[in-house]
Amino acid sequence: MSVIDETRLDTEQAWSVDDARALYRIDDWSEGYFRVGPKGTVLAAPDRDATGGVDLADIVAGLSDRDIGAPLLLRFSDILAHRLTALREAFDGAIRENDYKGDYCAVYPIKVNQQRQVVDEVARFGGKLGFGLEVGSKPELLAVLALTSEQENQLIVCNGFKDAHYIEAVLLASKLGRRIVPVVESLREVQLIIKYAELYDVRPDIGVRVKLASKGAGRWSDSAGVKSKFGLFVSEMLEMLELLKRHEMLDCLKLLHCHSGSQVHDIQNLKQVVTELAHVYVQLVQEGAGLELLDVGGGLAVDYTGAQTNDPSSMNYSVQEYASHVVYRIGSVCEAAGVKHPTIVTECGRAMVAHASVLIFDVLGSTGPHDLARQPDTGVPNTPNKSLPQPIRDLQTALSGIVPERLLECYHDAVVARDEAMTLFGLGYLGLRERAMAERLFWTTCLRIQEVAKTIEDLPEELTSLDQILSDTYFCNFSLFQSLPDAWAIDQVFPIMPIQRLDEQPTRRAVLADITCDSDGRLDRFIGEGEIQRALDVHELDDRPYYLGVFLVGAYQETLGDLHNLFGDAHAVHIRIEDGQWAIEEVVSGDTAGEVLSYVQFDPKQFESQMRKDCERAVRANCMTVRESKALLRFYETGLSSYTYLQS
Ligand code: PLP
Repeated sequence: MSVIDETRLDTEQAWSVDDARALYRIDDWSEGYFRVGPKGTVLAAPDRDATGGVDLADIVAGLSDRDIGAPLLLRFSDILAHRLTALREAFDGAIRENDYKGDYCAVYPIKVNQQRQVVDEVARFGGKLGFGLEVGSKPELLAVLALTSEQENQLIVCNGFKDAHYIEAVLLASKLGRRIVPVVESLREVQLIIKYAELYDVRPDIGVRVKLASKGAGRWSDSAGVKSKFGLFVSEMLEMLELLKRHEMLDCLKLLHCHSGSQVHDIQNLKQVVTELAHVYVQLVQEGAGLELLDVGGGLAVDYTGAQTNDPSSMNYSVQEYASHVVYRIGSVCEAAGVKHPTIVTECGRAMVAHASVLIFDVLGSTGPHDLARQPDTGVPNTPNKSLPQPIRDLQTALSGIVPERLLECYHDAVVARDEAMTLFGLGYLGLRERAMAERLFWTTCLRIQEVAKTIEDLPEELTSLDQILSDTYFCNFSLFQSLPDAWAIDQVFPIMPIQRLDEQPTRRAVLADITCDSDGRLDRFIGEGEIQRALDVHELDDRPYYLGVFLVGAYQETLGDLHNLFGDAHAVHIRIEDGQWAIEEVVSGDTAGEVLSYVQFDPKQFESQMRKDCERAVRANCMTVRESKALLRFYETGLSSYTYLQS
């Protein structure tokens, strides 16, 4: 009998999908777009209908039938549309509530997710809501100019550093009828705008970004404040006014802008920034500027943990509260100064697109204490036996003596005995089999202590870390660097949970390792009760596929992802929901091995021909049969045209 069989506690308790809802806190972070269905699977409900929704496990199975395997990025167009509408409604409500006389216009900064399908959808849905687009570079400008040909009135805000070509193109584009506003980041840009305006005889709409004294909050707090990389100091703005006045273009200054950083989790910072910006606005109007648009930038956060706290992965306000504060503060500052209420512009891309994408990957296998404890016998007797080395006997005694009253004592005994066993092994007094036995006994003892500890209220502090020590590693078919770069770079926490078997109690806890050859490629921060958990509750693996979903990944992750280990883009599938059923709108196939090789300037065709030559040489030298060479070449050719991830 194996050690684990002797010691296993019966952990099966009545478990329902409601327990899974609570465990993974799905109701807290999902904003109603995702929920646990009665069959123990995750459902996506774009209209937030608490009774409907399409089954993610069903979608993944359906895609697998069509040879579209994990990892997969599911993009829900209907969630995207719902997010945009919710933003519009929040501002419309705030405008009514505060009797605000101006309008509202959101512009989508395409850098947040500039995949063509996403930008198309935002432009289409957003166009109907009066929304526009924001660009921060020449390539983004080129894309947006073409994308807006049908919707000339869509506001285009051009941020970022600009050269003469950029500015010339913007001014000429205004002759196409585009409503395009270059936002001045330096005095040099104003001079260029004036030069091309006179050359082409256009009266452009001009914007300016101001460096405020108020700082933003969170990881990107330096996006605002005097240390900000962008924008003009107030003294420079006054110089700009003089310049425009001299060229009789003061009325062209239409937009005032600032950006307080992304994921501003504390509403207090937003309030300060908006109030200061509004004061600058009214004074510029009083100086004669033709301002009509007040652009408060991005910053509207996403509550990734669902905790509603002032934490970088959360936020202590709602979208409605954000809208109300922005409208109220701008309205009251303008009112007091007797200045006409401007059209309020926001650049909140994260809050528009994050919820619409879910990353799904399969678990390939596991390693860790559970697997170790379950290893087959090594031939060393399990029962105490005088011929066994002392540390092994001590471990056996610790294991058999576990009772709630002696948990800490048994744990200490096991740790000491394990350390002694390792010392003896290092000195050559213990064989490999005995060492394996000691390891197995040690982990089994810890697992058993962990089980019994669950029944104890006042757990000794030392034992509270057992959950962390005893977590396993689940190997997952994805690249953290490609699909969740912010989890690696800035410790961003994303909601993660199994998408199936939620009607079964998870019995293991695991960190998630990706398939890159990099020990950093792992997820070990998860949403949990109160604080961040270092392991995720997961189910025992069996011969069925086991999929995990990472939610709210629609913002920044796709474009910031990189080719570490040459793992390419995952397949992206656009899902539409029609009459309660899911339908595939578009499949964007992930990169093939040949494609990623060519991204780093290798020539796959030349590789193939080199391999053919090597095979022929090996055949001639009788190192390989023709059949074997054909098999190797087939592997090589199919490898080049295959997905970069593992295929089950
Ligand atoms: N506008 C500007 C100028 C930005 O730099 C950014 C991103 O940092 C955004 C808008 C987008 O902000 P958010 O991440 O809140 O969508």
